[in-house]
Parts: sequence; C-alpha cells; structure tokens
Amino acid sequence: MSNRKMITAALPYANGPVHIGHLAGVYIPADVYARFQRRLGKDVAFICGSDEHGIPITIRAKKEGVTPQDIVDKYHEVIKKSFADLGISFDEYSRTTSKKHYETSQDFFKTLYEKGKFTEEVSEQYFDEQANEFLADRYIVGTCPNCGNENAYGDQCEKCGSTLSPSELINPKSMLSGNVPVLKATKNWYLPLNEYESFLNEWIIEGHKDDWKPNVYGQVKSWLNDGLKPRAMTRDLNWGVPVPLPGAEGKVLYVWFDAPIGYISFTKEWAEKNGKDWKDYWQSEGSDLVHFIGKDNIVFHCIIFPSMMKAHGDYIMPKNVPAFEFLNLENDKISTSRNWAVWAHEYVEDFPGQQDVLRYALLSSAPETKDNNFTWKDFQTKNNSELVGIFGNFINRVAVLINKNFDGIIPEGDINAPELEEIGIKATEIKNYLENYEFRNALTSFMNLARFGNKYLADEEPWKTIKTDLDKTKKILFIGAQIAAALGNLAEPFLPFTAQKIYDIFNIKQMNWNDIEHSKVLIEAGHKINVAPLLFSQIEDSVIDAQIEKLEQTKQNNKKTNPNATPMKEQINFDDFTKIDLRTATILEAEKVEKADKLLKLTVDTGVDVRTVVSGIAESFTPEELIGKQVMILLNLAPRKIRGIESQGMLLLTTKSDGKLSFVTPDDQVENGVEIG
Ligand SMILES: [Zn+2]
Repeated sequence: MSNRKMITAALPYANGPVHIGHLAGVYIPADVYARFQRRLGKDVAFICGSDEHGIPITIRAKKEGVTPQDIVDKYHEVIKKSFADLGISFDEYSRTTSKKHYETSQDFFKTLYEKGKFTEEVSEQYFDEQANEFLADRYIVGTCPNCGNENAYGDQCEKCGSTLSPSELINPKSMLSGNVPVLKATKNWYLPLNEYESFLNEWIIEGHKDDWKPNVYGQVKSWLNDGLKPRAMTRDLNWGVPVPLPGAEGKVLYVWFDAPIGYISFTKEWAEKNGKDWKDYWQSEGSDLVHFIGKDNIVFHCIIFPSMMKAHGDYIMPKNVPAFEFLNLENDKISTSRNWAVWAHEYVEDFPGQQDVLRYALLSSAPETKDNNFTWKDFQTKNNSELVGIFGNFINRVAVLINKNFDGIIPEGDINAPELEEIGIKATEIKNYLENYEFRNALTSFMNLARFGNKYLADEEPWKTIKTDLDKTKKILFIGAQIAAALGNLAEPFLPFTAQKIYDIFNIKQMNWNDIEHSKVLIEAGHKINVAPLLFSQIEDSVIDAQIEKLEQTKQNNKKTNPNATPMKEQINFDDFTKIDLRTATILEAEKVEKADKLLKLTVDTGVDVRTVVSGIAESFTPEELIGKQVMILLNLAPRKIRGIESQGMLLLTTKSDGKLSFVTPDDQVENGVEIG
C-alpha cells in the first residue's frame, strides 16, 4: 500500500450554494476518508475547488444582468465558507479561474496538441451575426418538433423531456439577440476517445472488476460496450480558458477538459505553499489517486479524464473512483431550480454549533449503493436517540463520575480487563470499512463501541458501587475512561468537532489509528481530566416542525404560476360569500379631494341609489377619464369617514405590473345594480 494519498472531491459548480445532497454524496465521505488516511500517518493531499466555467454560469449572468465573474465570485465564497463551517478539511480549496489553473490547463492542452493527440474537425454551428458569437445549444430556442413547445432549448425540450440538437428546432432563434441564427463553419479539437477503448477495457474492465463499486464499474462497462466517439475538447465561447493556439481566438477549452485538470492546478498551488512537489502526488507510482464524485460524473472521471491523462503520458491513473448515488429529501428528488433542498449555509445558521449532527445524519444515510432519503424526523431521531442518548450520554457519565468521585483523576484499573479488547477490535473494523469506502458500516461500528460502553456502565452501575465497593468502582471507571478516550479518537474522521471536545474533556492528544488498534490503555491512571460540557443536546419538535414548514412553503411556492402571487387567504364557506353584496355601478362625477394626493371623491349610480365613494385612485386616473365608467362596487361595506367625507362602499380594483390601478369591470355594458356572483 502506498504512503501517499491524492484525494479529490468533485469540483462544485459555482452558480449556486451546496446542499445536503452534495454533502452526503461527495464531500462528507471524502472528508472522512481524508481525515482517516491522515490518522494512518499517510501523506495526504485533499484537494478541491470551484468549477467556474461553462454555459450555465454565462446564462445565469445574462439573466441577472451581471458578468460571469460576478456570479462565480459570489458563489465561490458561499461554497468555500460552507465547507469550512462543516469541517471539510481540504488542504486546498481553489477555483478554476485562478492563474495557475489557466497555465496548467493550457499547458496540458498544448502537450496533447504537440503530441498529435487531437483531431481537428470543421462543423457547421449556429452563429448570431448581430452578437457576433457562436451559439451554445442552450442559447438557441425554438419550437420542439415533438410536442410543439415554443420555448424548447437547442439541447432539450423541458416540457416533454426529449433530447434535441439545435438543427431539429423549428424556427430557431438566438437568445442573445432574438434573431434567426445562421449556420457557419467552425474548427474545433477533438479527443478521439475511441482510440482509448482498449486501454480503458484493460485498466478498468479487467483490472478493477473486484475492487471498484458495482455502480461505477457497471456504468463504465456499459459506455464501453456502446463504443466511444471522438469528443470536442474546445468550444466557441467567450467564458472559459482560452485555447492556447494561434488562430483559435474566441475559443475556450471544453469545461470538462479544464475542470478535472483543476485537481492538478490546485495541488500545484498547495504544493508551492507547503514546500512539496506536486509530481509526487500525480506522477509517481507511490501515490494513490482517489476521486470522490456523484454518479452523474462517472463518465468524466472514469473515461474522459483518464483518457486525457493517458494521452499526456506522465500521469498515474486513479486507484479508485468511489461514486455515490443520489440523496433525496423527504422522498422527493433534491432540486436547485425548485429550491427543494436543505442548503448547507442555511443549516449552519439554523443549527449553530451542531455541524456534527448533520455530518452524522448524512453519513448514516449516505447513498453508497443506491439512492437514499433524508427526512427531518429521522435527523431528529438520530440526534436525540443516538448522539444524545447513547454516545453523548456515555461520555458525559464517565467524565462526571470521575470528576465527582475521584477529583477528576483517572483511577487505577486492570490494564488486562477483557472489555478493553473491544477498543482494538472496533478500531480495526472501522479501518477495514473505511479502506473499502463503506462509510455507513464504519459509522455503525463506531456507534457500536459507544453502545458497548453505555451497556457496560448500565450493567456495572458505578453510581451504586461507589457506596459499597470503592475498588470495583475504580476499575469500572478506568475501563470507562479508556473507552471514552477511544471514542474521541475514533470519532474524529466522522465528527471532528465532537472529537475535539472529547480531547479537551479528557485532556488527551489525538493518536495514530494504528496505535489505537494495538493499545488498550489510552489514558494512564493518575491523569487529570477536565469538567465535561454536554456534547449534544436534544432537538425539540418545534425546531424540526419549523424546518418541515419551510419545505412546505417551498412546495406551495413551486405550485405558483405567478411567483409574485400572495398565498391564498383562509377558506370561507358559501354563507360567508352570500353576505357580500357586489353590484355593477356607473361613475357619474369625480373630483379631487383637497390636500389628499391619492384620493378622489366619486358620485356613483349603484342602481339602488346614488351615493358617494372615496377611493385612493388619484395617482392612476384623472377625474375626467372616470366619468361614465362602469365599475363594480362592494355595496354593503359599512360606511366610514375619509378626510371628513362619508364613503359608502368600495370599488373593485386590481394592480397592474407597473403599479397602476385598474378597474374590475364587466365584459359588456350592463344595467346598474345587477348583482355579481
Ligand atoms: Zn417537447
């Protein structure tokens, strides 16, 4: 086994914040793995950064009327902070707009170009003559040939879900200018992936049948069975890393060419700051490269990036690509566009100091082999029953009993007690699971040690023996202290904030994992410990209900066809409705109310009488244009005085998008005093 671990986590896309799906499916498992490898004494580089190129960012920028740089600057900071807040222990978190990344990805491209690894192909692509730009598929809208939706995109119709190419659209239009785009020839550089099929077959299909996850292996196999095609590694776009060749102005590297090279660029940035050689991690057989990703990125990390590295010639291949499935939220697919998510930055705000609770809940339902589900009720149960009830309870009881009965000094005990065997067994068990990317099983083993400790105390009852048998009590708490110290140490990859608290309580330093496997005594008798704050606290129903209510609100908002519409008022019954007397009426006279800019005094023929109504419509209508206008009136509204004038009833009005008022009127002229209902 090699001593160096080059661990990457999928680059989050910088056009939105990260949510629990990202955390459960990539970042928390990757962090557990990186922390664990450090504890084994491995030379770890844990590298990530924001992916800041690609079409969705330029589209979002256009929509918001800002530059793509504005978008990525904003979300890079939000994402970076969320990771730091949740204890994701990246050695480097950078971004693909960094200078080093431009250099590295351009160098990589030039090397492949000079080695003759690309083919050049000229194709006809849609071009907007007014904007003077080639149009990405997403920038072309037209009528879907399958369902007639007039707002289908060049790559997809979102109404019927069919995949399209721009040439299939009826009446294609450019989103940039609204003009009809023209076809224009353009040259791009392609990587002939078909030439790497035999290499990929040998390396993955033959070489990793047994040690890669079945979902990853199966997907790669199916891609290879279908046969690979050349894929364009450049694009006609103005946002991205410029293609470093003469005559390639206006072209950038394909985002999936430059993004994975980011792992290398960021390693270089980290190595320079820390006196390391980045090549030891990327170009040396003494290094294990491991990519943590979601299942939607398998093709890029198992086929395209390895083919690029193979074409380059100097790089090692990934040792493993533990891709995760997806996490659902309350039995529904997490969706950024529908805001159906628990956002990391909101969680940190709503649950201050409780980062480890989220880490625990997400790890225990990590979508390792199939899609999994997160619910707030389950989150609450995991906190209250497991973290508070078992783990926190055990640590707290041990510390409190030692402080209370032995002045905080670890009492003498039996260093050969059979209970101490359990520490090493569990440490090895967790190690084996983590080496095999089985995070849920590893977490279960960890909690089983806490359960073991809890049961030991419940069986031995040191709070009772203290009154009868001091020597026995010492022995019990000596064992309790060893298990507590082991739990602190073993918790660190999973629950780093809690581990630190336990180190502080027991006044201990973090140990190497192998030492925990082989030593039963982690704290010597005579060692002084500190007072114990509670590690976890109960999460009340009201807190959970508030989160569920927040999601319910999202659901309601998603039903709206007009995002500005206010929620429906409380239901009324038919009797309530029949009490309302609505009638047609005609305005006979209108005049301004003195010293009131908004008010008009109206004389109205309601069919049942002629009456006065004061209405706040002077900013939307002149008195002259109102005379003779048919309107609707709420006739039986109790009269009230406005500026000394008695107003009898209310005219029905609505507000237009420009803020001006508009009367609700019948389609055709009708008699005055006709009831509405
Ligand atoms: Zn369609």
